[in-house]
Parts: sequence; C-alpha cells; structure tokens
Amino acid sequence: MMGYMKTLLLLATLIVTLTTHAKTNLEIIKIGHPTLRATAQEVIHAEISNPEFQSLIDDMISTMSEAGGVGLAAPQVNKSLRMFVMKSWPSVSLTVVINPTIEYLEDFGKKDSVEGCLSIPGKNLKVQRFKKIHLSYFDRKGEYISVELNGFGAIIAQHEYDHLNGILIVDLVEQMISKINYIGFSNAPLM
Ligand SMILES: [Zn+2]
Repeated sequence: MMGYMKTLLLLATLIVTLTTHAKTNLEIIKIGHPTLRATAQEVIHAEISNPEFQSLIDDMISTMSEAGGVGLAAPQVNKSLRMFVMKSWPSVSLTVVINPTIEYLEDFGKKDSVEGCLSIPGKNLKVQRFKKIHLSYFDRKGEYISVELNGFGAIIAQHEYDHLNGILIVDLVEQMISKINYIGFSNAPLM
C-alpha cells in the first residue's frame, strides 16, 4: 500500500513538474512602457544555446500562441534583446529570429498593411510595408540564415524588426489620419 501511494505521489509530482515547465506565459507589456521604446541589445551568439535563453524562446512562442498573435518580439515581454518569433499557419512556419538585419528591397515597392499590435490593445492601424525584404538572422541553433521574404512573412518580420528599434505602428501613421485608420479594421493580425 505504501509503495502504491509513493508511486502515486511521484506521478503527481512528475505531472506538476512537467506542466509547470512546459510553458510559461509571459506578461506582454503595453505602450507607455519604456522597454518598448528602447533599442534592443544584440544577443551574444555563445549564449543562444544557454538553457535560460532557449526557455525564453519557448515561453515567447507559447505567449504568442496564447495571445492569438502571429509575431512577438522580445521587448514586448520586457526583454530588451534583438530577437522575435513569428508564425502564421499555413503561410508562415514557426520562425525564431535572432540578431536580424533587414534589407528593404525598395524596387518592389510598398503596400498597405492593416496591423494590430499585442502591445497596443484595441488599435488596428493601416501602415505601409515593403512588399519584399531580405532577412538575415541566426536561428535558435545559432545557425546563420539569409532569406528573401514576401507576402505575410515579410509584413510580420518588418513589424517585429521595428519593435527591436523601439518603433511602434502608431509611429508609422500620420497623426491626422490615425483616427480614420483604425476604425473599421476589426480582425487585423496581432503581432
Ligand atoms: Zn507589435
């Protein structure tokens, strides 16, 4: 009987441990918080493999999913690091982007993009984004990746990259037209 109880207790402990470590949802900070306006710091390459950094990546992925977002940048969870995650099934697979650089391919022009921001509740704004970009970064294994992006992937990457430089979508909209711009867009993607 004691052995049975012990096994049960061990099982219960294991389940609690697994569930508490599997995902931690982080607090998403809102406009007005100074971290959103700071220029985020480069991630030291040797630290990418650190368990704490890998946990931060996992926590950001689960926080993004829980919030119904398609992208989330580290400054939005009050970590001033040059890192973001993005995912929008089926067009954008889960991507972890560390220390990115963007080359805006201006020849392909810009297009309107209606966006919501997880750090600006209730405001969907119409901004302009480049149609095509070249994104270079390190993935979560520390490997260097260099890709051309268009479509929704390019939009999310530009939004998240702005977060690393303290730029929010409210900055990209002319003050005079902002009121008009966020009326009527109810289902904009959150990022
Ligand atoms: Zn945002």
